[in-house]
Amino acid sequence: MNKFSWYEAKSVEDALDKVNATASDILGKRPNESSVIFKAGGIDLMDLMKEGLVNPGTIVNIKKIPDLDKIEFDEKNGLRIGANVNLATLEGNSLIKDKYLALHLAVGHAGTPQLRNSATLGGNLAQRTRCWYFRSLEHQCFRKGSGTCFAQKGENEFHAIMKNETCASVHSSSVSTALMAFNASVEIATSDGKKRKVRMEEFFVHPEVDSRSENILNSNELITAVVIPAPKAGTKSYYIKQGARESHDWAMADVAVVMEMSGSNCSKAEVVLGAAAPIPIRSKEANGVLTGKSINETVAIAAGEASMKGATPLSGNAYKVPIFKTIVKRAILKSV
Ligand SMILES: Cc1cc2nc3c(=O)[nH]c(=O)nc-3n(C[C@H](O)[C@H](O)[C@H](O)COP(=O)(O)OP(=O)(O)OC[C@H]3O[C@@H](n4cnc5c(N)ncnc54)[C@H](O)[C@@H]3O)c2cc1C
Repeated sequence: MNKFSWYEAKSVEDALDKVNATASDILGKRPNESSVIFKAGGIDLMDLMKEGLVNPGTIVNIKKIPDLDKIEFDEKNGLRIGANVNLATLEGNSLIKDKYLALHLAVGHAGTPQLRNSATLGGNLAQRTRCWYFRSLEHQCFRKGSGTCFAQKGENEFHAIMKNETCASVHSSSVSTALMAFNASVEIATSDGKKRKVRMEEFFVHPEVDSRSENILNSNELITAVVIPAPKAGTKSYYIKQGARESHDWAMADVAVVMEMSGSNCSKAEVVLGAAAPIPIRSKEANGVLTGKSINETVAIAAGEASMKGATPLSGNAYKVPIFKTIVKRAILKSV
């Protein structure tokens, strides 16, 4: 790891005033003393630095900024989670467990207890993919702007099985799978003193749109919070993550299901798949099967089948297709 300077940000404005780069901006570039970047929990940033992929001159620690670590809820505005809230705090929050069960389960299955104690929600959304070609200094892959995805013909066991024609990496945030199912938005502060709110599907960008970054963040922007609408009466949810191991690992497949129910009838469904494509994706096909139906095993199996319509697995990851079908079915049945 190269030498760097350290700055303790006192406020959002102070942090935005200092920072001039995102991890994506300086990825693969030579150490540059003038590059300045945010650090929250440091889990992903330190890995990128140890891997030699990111070499900032100065790190701005945003972890101690007051007001970024609050969790607030009211029926009108919904749930607002500050960007610096760590995953362990989210996991332990009883309101989230009660009203947003899928989110509670997603944060509780991310990494390990030690990681969850450090990892923040903002950093989780802005983390980079764990694709082994991306993480290798030797490979100038599609996500580094080269136009070549080595996973297509190489080792692709954990890679994307949908929307994978150009780049087969998958996003590493399993927390986002649940957030997208709850129609969350990301609140972003900009250096001109303004704030903007973008839906999760606008926050993440497919590699075909931007090959070098998974999200829309610019260097003069800081995630301040994630906002989730209050759930309607009768809303049920569930989340399942399948990893190679029970702990210490990213998802090989994960799913969040949120359904608005009246008795056993589903009036609206949101099925979101993580680790299926380069960014989390909604399954319109599964939603279509569930909406307007009485939920039972037959319908859940049909939704699981529908969720994999159009899947294009690679040489080493066709095993993910039946896993997704099964966890989609299980999450639906567990929701109700
Ligand atoms: C072994 C292991 C297993 C894991 N398993 C999972 C898993 O199953 N599911 C999952 O979701 N994650 C998993 N993770 C990833 C982990 O959750 C993330 O690395 C962590 O959440 C990142 O948060 P952080 O606060 O440490 O971010 P940092 O490392 O501090 O920052 C990450 C990036 O985000 C930027 N950033 C940080 N905060 C902000 C902000 N507020 N605004 C704008 N940019 C910001 C930084 O500049 C940096 O580029 C795992 C990690 C490890 C090491």
